[in-house]
Amino acid sequence: MIAPSRFPPLLKVGVFPDPVEQALRDVFTLVELDELGLAGRPGHDEIAGIVTRSNYRISRELIDQLPGLRIISTNGVGYDGIPLDYARRKGVIVTNTPEVLNEAVAEMAVGLLLALLRHIPRADAFVKEGAWTTMPFPLGTTLAGKKVGIVGLGRIGKEIVKRLLPFRVEVAYFGRSRQDAEWMYFDDVNRLAAHADILILCCPGGPETYGMIDAGVLRSLGPSGFLVNIARGSVVNESDLYRALADRTVAGAALDVFNHEPLDASPLRRLDNVVLAPHVGSATRETRMQMAALAIDNLCRFFDTGSAVTPVP
Ligand code: NAP
Repeated sequence: MIAPSRFPPLLKVGVFPDPVEQALRDVFTLVELDELGLAGRPGHDEIAGIVTRSNYRISRELIDQLPGLRIISTNGVGYDGIPLDYARRKGVIVTNTPEVLNEAVAEMAVGLLLALLRHIPRADAFVKEGAWTTMPFPLGTTLAGKKVGIVGLGRIGKEIVKRLLPFRVEVAYFGRSRQDAEWMYFDDVNRLAAHADILILCCPGGPETYGMIDAGVLRSLGPSGFLVNIARGSVVNESDLYRALADRTVAGAALDVFNHEPLDASPLRRLDNVVLAPHVGSATRETRMQMAALAIDNLCRFFDTGSAVTPVP
């Protein structure tokens, strides 16, 4: 028999990997949205917290339906799916899991970049499907010597730079402000795109960056330019990107994030100059467990003391 939790019940929004869900269930009573108020299950007014992941949306309506809500804890660093100001007005604190995922996301960015430049997914299919005996494999692009433009030189961006420097690349960056960093700073994303051979997006999503990478920026990146997006799908105007890739006015793109996830009937899937991943930047066993541990710490600390470990600033 499971001992009752000393904490109030939480609403679970989103699907979690089994070990993460288990870790949460070891500490909390979790309730799915469609279970609320069913016989023997907590009702709307008993829910004091929401536990979610950063690729799910929390609506204002949901917040309104939970009069006892005090905390939303997301397993992830991005919080563009949470109506932050509205939650604050309602006295609801929002917490995320920064830092613990930096390395996994940076590894994924570098992996996607190499996969794109050297056609690694196509090379794998080429051998497995028996094409090797029938035709030559297309040449790839060398990373060494390229100019890499980082859009958003934050925690993850800096980890990406650390990993790319041994490949002998030149780094430049764009952000809202110049940092105390030795890399060339651009205060305009268009000018960074014109300067760079490779653009890596690692800024936050949300209204400020919505559609920032549009036809103009892609034109500046040019026909030998590559784009990697591990930030948020919303940062890119996806139809402009599709056009640029299909017309080869941009050489290629590697995308972990999309306007609508999971990606379904997108024309991007038909292109041979893209590498696509199902939003798995932080998806390693080790990292997801560290994220879960931090999300759980946030919830426990908040319920015990009224303040959290990593509240969204
Ligand atoms: P962070 O430390 O806050 O860094 C964000 C960077 O973006 C900062 O350098 C910031 O610099 C810059 N930035 C903020 N607003 C900007 C704007 N309007 N235009 C241009 N640059 C802007 O965040 P992080 O921990 O590195 O995470 C970055 C993002 O990665 C998250 O928000 C999330 O969306 C994404 N992410 C994706 C995955 C995945 O699975 N693919 C996993 C984790 C995170 P300034 O303040 O100087 O502008």
